[in-house]
Amino acid sequence: MTTISKNDQLFERAQKTTPGGVNSPVRAFRSVGGTPRFITRAEGPYFWDADGKRYIDYIGSWGPAIVGHAHPQVVKAVQEAATRGLSFGAPTEGEVEMAEELVRLVPSLEQVRLVSSGTEATMSALRLARGATGRDKIVKFEGCYHGHADSLLVKAGSGLLTFGNPTSAGVPEDFVKHTLVLDYNDVAQIEEAFANFGDEIACVIVEPVAGNMNLIKASEAFLQALRALCTKHGALLIFDEVMCGFRVALGGAQELYGIQPDLTALGKVIGGGLPVAAFGGSAKLMSNMSPVGAVYQAGTLSGNPVAVAAGMTTLKLIQQPGFYDQLGATARRLADGLTVAAQDAGIPFCADAVGGMFGLYFSETPPNNYAEMMAGNRERFNVFFHKMLDEGVYFAPAAFEAGFVSAQHSDDVIDETIAAARRVFATL
Ligand code: PMP
Repeated sequence: MTTISKNDQLFERAQKTTPGGVNSPVRAFRSVGGTPRFITRAEGPYFWDADGKRYIDYIGSWGPAIVGHAHPQVVKAVQEAATRGLSFGAPTEGEVEMAEELVRLVPSLEQVRLVSSGTEATMSALRLARGATGRDKIVKFEGCYHGHADSLLVKAGSGLLTFGNPTSAGVPEDFVKHTLVLDYNDVAQIEEAFANFGDEIACVIVEPVAGNMNLIKASEAFLQALRALCTKHGALLIFDEVMCGFRVALGGAQELYGIQPDLTALGKVIGGGLPVAAFGGSAKLMSNMSPVGAVYQAGTLSGNPVAVAAGMTTLKLIQQPGFYDQLGATARRLADGLTVAAQDAGIPFCADAVGGMFGLYFSETPPNNYAEMMAGNRERFNVFFHKMLDEGVYFAPAAFEAGFVSAQHSDDVIDETIAAARRVFATL
């Protein structure tokens, strides 16, 4: 008698009442095929699925779990906050502390507004940029994901200066006709865009280290060109650091590159696994936000006390001496170890890491933009992914995603992963 896996049972059940059986699409394993693992618990660098199988987790809730899952201090802070009440709809001292901490740590911030998701953060930053400049057009880059607000859900247009078509059904073309989609890391294109539309562009929004088309680093020249062109033409530069903030360095990509954006969106790590995100910039710019200014934005659960407790505790933990040196060394050990293992097996593969983020590429060199990323061998990735899953290693279930390590991924955990990959590469 064969027993049906609990994951399979849950997936079948889930699909009856939830579209695709999941509450966020990439969880569904659509890209790699097969049954998603339903997670029952997590601790440190591991999580366990409904069949009791343990995995080394390299998604870390897609970024937040930077100090490892269920860190005792974070759990304790959450428990204590919960006993004092779950939500008040009135301000708390915790929110003040959180804002002060973010402003202290992220170079370009003077004021922030807390929200509950990265989508809200980027959507609100966009509204603020348009409200503050009185302009409508925005520029984004192919392959950068900024949450699912209408005007940001634009499929990458191929040609230069092609105004976007909606990526998602349900987004009127009218909503995205102001969204200009350009190639990441292409200085000539952005120069041309500003030459043509300079006085109509409200803002340029970019992931300064891109993590939604696998991991792609922006070139310094590219980010500097964005900064200079925005300044010259009176447009605002928005760094979407929802993923790379507190990941690639304590002060985020803006600290790493030494470039100050006008507005920053944050999320993931700052909630430590609970829903906290934020957007912010100069006090002058932020004075456009209601209730002071005319740009409206609000949230019933914004600055939720339990979520803020998790976030603040996480922000304290990542400031321990040497935290980022260790995190960076961990991701580097993984990237280099996997690369050598693939080379030994004769598989065209490379890997890269920035801080606690990494990218795995089934190509000879790391990609610089969306098209190069798409040219990688996705079929081979899918086989690799499933074989690693069988080995008890959970990488992101799509070749388009970055990976994440936590402070709890010890050298032993990394070496165990590399050893598993060695076995898998030999079969590819
Ligand atoms: N911006 C970036 C760079 C992201 O990676 C994400 C989520 N992966 C978002 C925005 C949206 O955040 P959320 O899923 O919390 O709405």
